[in-house]
Amino acid sequence: MSVVFIGMGSNLGERFSILQQAVALISELPTTDMLAASSVYESPPIDNSEQNHFLNAVCKITTELPPKALLDALKAIERSLGRPERYARWSPRCIDLDILFYDDQVIMQDGLTIPHSEIQHRKFVLLPMLELDDVFHPILKKPLSTLLAETSDDSVIDKRELPLLYNKKT
Ligand code: ADP
Ligand code: MG
Repeated sequence: MSVVFIGMGSNLGERFSILQQAVALISELPTTDMLAASSVYESPPIDNSEQNHFLNAVCKITTELPPKALLDALKAIERSLGRPERYARWSPRCIDLDILFYDDQVIMQDGLTIPHSEIQHRKFVLLPMLELDDVFHPILKKPLSTLLAETSDDSVIDKRELPLLYNKKT
């Protein structure tokens, strides 16, 4: 059984409802249990364009799904929530699901990079994830709290009072 952190983001449509549905669908994956979901944060789009702000959150699961199978399952959830096969980079998206950490594994194969390559550059990932765990980054060799203190991301992230609900299977 592995412990996995998943980053979630939406800036198109009913953003909170889409995040809530993503949490429900992730918790229904085979062999998977939802351990925790962070608060929801509102963040400006990365390129500061005219796009809608994002809602972001992180959830923590246990699963027997191996990394590639989990990625495929998350892509299927993205599509079931209305995400087209391809988006232009940085374009608005109704849902983005990223594997942030998979245990303390380091993986670079099959188009999969774990830990996710942008963690240390994104306050909208660091802040919600720190609510759940001060995970030690196996490549950067630093805990998340240090990565947050050192990040060059100076965007303003707002914590929202919108709790994500989830059921524990056990
Ligand atoms: P982004 O998340 O950067 O906005 P996408 O969601 O379109 O962009 O992701 C592009 C590709 O990144 C996905 O098709 C996926 O195969 C790949 N990818 C590599 N590593 C990861 C990861 N850790 N989590 C999710 N996707 C990943
Ligand atoms: Mg993604």
